[in-house]
Amino acid sequence: WTEGTIADAENSLTELAALAETAGSQVLEGLIQRRTRPDPATYIGRGKVDDLGAVVLSTGADTVICDGELSPSQLRNLEQRTKVKVVDRTALILDIFAQHAKSKEGKAQVELAQLQYLLPRLRGWGETLSRQTGGSGRGGGAGGGVGVRGPGETKLETDRRRIRHRISRLRREIKNMRTVRVTKRARRTRNSIPAVAIAGYTNAGKSSLLNRLTDAGVLVENALFATLDPTTRKTTASDGRIYTLSDTVGFVRHLPHQIVEAFRSTLEEVAEADLVVHVVDGTHPDPEEQVRAVHEVLAEVSADRLPELLVVNKTDAADEDTLLRLKRLWPDAIFVSAYSGMGIEDLRSAIEDRLPQPAVEVRAVLP
Ligand code: GDP
Repeated sequence: WTEGTIADAENSLTELAALAETAGSQVLEGLIQRRTRPDPATYIGRGKVDDLGAVVLSTGADTVICDGELSPSQLRNLEQRTKVKVVDRTALILDIFAQHAKSKEGKAQVELAQLQYLLPRLRGWGETLSRQTGGSGRGGGAGGGVGVRGPGETKLETDRRRIRHRISRLRREIKNMRTVRVTKRARRTRNSIPAVAIAGYTNAGKSSLLNRLTDAGVLVENALFATLDPTTRKTTASDGRIYTLSDTVGFVRHLPHQIVEAFRSTLEEVAEADLVVHVVDGTHPDPEEQVRAVHEVLAEVSADRLPELLVVNKTDAADEDTLLRLKRLWPDAIFVSAYSGMGIEDLRSAIEDRLPQPAVEVRAVLP
């Protein structure tokens, strides 16, 4: 179920499949349900659950991934009916973020997001967690241990308490790490080195462009979310000015709010930039929608008022008609291919033209 048309649902499902593959799954089959709104009990509705059950049986699938956020009871009902593990889009994205986080701060932010997602859902596993004394049962990983539990406290209450403690601890740690980062940024501001942030939808080619522009040697992966921790590189403009280029966290449709929240501080760095280079994938079936999704996230961190340079990438592989259409739609955009290098010099000069001019000291020489 999505708010848009069937084509939107198909695009969203294709992206979900790519996400699942990024997480290491093999995708067997896609199923779309047309409804005016999600079914409160099963999300997809009774009839479709039967279809889903049949697909699970015929394909031998061991997991169902649902393109949306399921309530704890919808998840439980679907698991009971299909007899396989059910995961929603949010859990899948959180999982990928967890696999890809590298820096200490990134890891802490993902763990925080996962715990915030888990906390209200603990009830969903209530049967196995309530009033039991052992540490067995699903979801028991967060609790357990003799002497940890207070008198008369259920396993569920103990788990919740421990998770809340961990959440506040992570918040404190992230806050401290942030102070360090802000100090570094302040130093940069003092030195008044202009900053360019490369933003854009996941897989648009941000890392590849950063490499092209700076020889940074950033990991490039044909997978969603290769970029979690921002990479910053210094580079020199043709007139000798130095500026920084940063690759930012990938954006994706329906980014779980836990993630937006957790990565807010990282995204806030974009808001401090002097220029946003917004990379769009010219081979994507719906580039306009990608641009909209990125603008939404940028607005959330108040980075929507910054000067923006729109860059359409992958012109080597994009279809001619699409490129013509996009040129008409975005006359000021720069068209490039990070692969072949086409347009890269134009991009470099467009960036340099838009960098803030250094304050020039003017001294009047009086006769
Ligand atoms: P990011 O997620 O935005 O950082 O994207 P990446 O730089 O990791 O690139 C995502 C995928 O697109 C990779 O498989 C790249 O090889 C591919 N890619 C990047 N730039 C181009 C390009 O100009 N042309 C083509 N055909 N593929 C590209």
